[in-house]
Amino acid sequence: MEYEKWKMENTMRITIIGGGPAGLYFAILMKKADPAHQIKIYERNGPDDTFGWGVVFSGKTLANLRAADEESHAEITREFEAWDNVDVVHGDEKISIHGNSFSGIARLRLLKILQRRAEELDVEVSYRTEIQDLEPLRQDCDLLVGADGVNSTVRLRYADQFKPELDLRAHRYIWYGTNQLFHGLTLTFRKNEAGTFAAHSYKFNKTTSTFIVECDPQTWERAGFATMSDDDMREYVANVFAGDLDGLLRITESV
Ligand SMILES: Cc1cc2nc3c(=O)[nH]c(=O)nc-3n(C[C@H](O)[C@H](O)[C@H](O)COP(=O)(O)OP(=O)(O)OC[C@H]3O[C@@H](n4cnc5c(N)ncnc54)[C@H](O)[C@@H]3O)c2cc1C
Repeated sequence: MEYEKWKMENTMRITIIGGGPAGLYFAILMKKADPAHQIKIYERNGPDDTFGWGVVFSGKTLANLRAADEESHAEITREFEAWDNVDVVHGDEKISIHGNSFSGIARLRLLKILQRRAEELDVEVSYRTEIQDLEPLRQDCDLLVGADGVNSTVRLRYADQFKPELDLRAHRYIWYGTNQLFHGLTLTFRKNEAGTFAAHSYKFNKTTSTFIVECDPQTWERAGFATMSDDDMREYVANVFAGDLDGLLRITESV
């Protein structure tokens, strides 16, 4: 009886803003802790939309995911590509460092796995619903969770309470995908007349690798990226990394 009373008092109506990995995973863990929690997620995108290509997990992250929820961990590890090398490519030299356990999975696959698991546990998700006005939602739940990413509306709205500190850095990046498979987490440095570009690449399924290109703002400016079309930029980047991409313009899409 005491337990029933405690349970009634501790069962919560939880509203989560943002159905990315953090919002979905938080919902899954809260439902596991107590299936009686009523949890609703608001996500501005559709269930099949996402930014980005693949994401990587370290071995330590995977161990944490396993400890927290074996079901989704099993699904994630069924899908992923694994490796233990980090390769650094500079000029003609490639140095491989082994003993770093990593794995990659498409960001969309990860989201689909977490969405399914959340639905299985009776989490309600409203897609294509962007939340601007937070107060009515806050007043209508016991716990409001801001899982709305790096430019969080929740954090901004309640900045006086959270007092966040943001440290914005100057480098720019473009997140590409390519059908060239990079076995291992590969960091490649290439230079041209505009400056130095670094590519972070790794395969995340049988046919695709993430290929993130990063440079400092001066290089970005000198390369003319600020006014270049996406297609021209992609061609420019493919030329910078022509030797690493087998000379083919294999970068398939920019996001
Ligand atoms: C180029 C790049 C590469 C990365 N690679 C990796 C990697 O390899 N491994 C890794 O672990 N991490 C990686 N990250 C980091 C990773 O993307 C983030 O840590 C992760 O996405 C954070 O998850 P999240 O759920 O907090 O935020 P997000 O993934 O940003 O999700 C937030 C969600 O909230 C929604 N949302 C925002 N505002 C509102 C609103 N007002 N109303 C409703 N919905 C809203 C958004 O649509 C989004 O779906 C990378 C990030 C970048 C930019």
